[in-house]
Amino acid sequence: MTQEKIKNLFTSLGVTKFGFGNLEEVIPEKYADLSTGISFAIRLSDAVMDEISDDAPTHTYFHHYRTVNAFIDHVALRVVMLLQSEGYKAIAIPASQSINEPGYDYSGLFQHRTVATRAGMGWIGKNACLITPEYGPRVRLGSIITNFKGIYDEPVNTSKCGDCELCVVKCPPIALKGNLWSKDVHRNDLVDARICSQHMSTHYKHIGRGVVCGICVKSCPIGKERL
Ligand code: SF4
Ligand code: SF4
Repeated sequence: MTQEKIKNLFTSLGVTKFGFGNLEEVIPEKYADLSTGISFAIRLSDAVMDEISDDAPTHTYFHHYRTVNAFIDHVALRVVMLLQSEGYKAIAIPASQSINEPGYDYSGLFQHRTVATRAGMGWIGKNACLITPEYGPRVRLGSIITNFKGIYDEPVNTSKCGDCELCVVKCPPIALKGNLWSKDVHRNDLVDARICSQHMSTHYKHIGRGVVCGICVKSCPIGKERL
């Protein structure tokens, strides 16, 4: 069975968490036939995350970020290859790609976070990241969209951030708006992506060419517990 093969592949590759979501309500018209979303998460290194200060990321975090992204692209490609060999169409969403063109506004081809919530992986925090119950936002996400129809996980539709605002107050350029996410809340209602991006490129150019920050990830209390 294809779904079992995908699960076994994820497990054999060391993927931290995965889920299958129905994207029929959210997939753009262009990809309407690829309405199954497969989401997976790779847990970040706590030791690397804990080195991020309240003011700046680290060179190690930048390298870790890129290494995990490369691994995510590799895993997603393996899943695409598996699906194709079983006769399905599939596209791997790039691990990290922000498109600065009209209609995208610094977002990617399709939001990993949307696939993840539809696949039951967690909710979107006030830091605009996926918050998994187990590891908080200390994960990076991969996604595949496909015409394979499997058994879907229960989607997550509401936030569990409650009154917490730690990430909001820690964000140096005040890019986070402090709004509580629910299914129909747009990313722009949570974060001003332009302010975030400009802050990184202005202040962290010497660390990872100004494309990483991580302060709002590091500051989240969920997922900080060690094994
Ligand atoms: S990545 Fe940094 S600048 Fe962007 S929202 Fe998070 S804390 Fe703010
Ligand atoms: S720091 Fe608090 S408000 Fe921000 S994402 Fe984590 S739980 Fe939610």
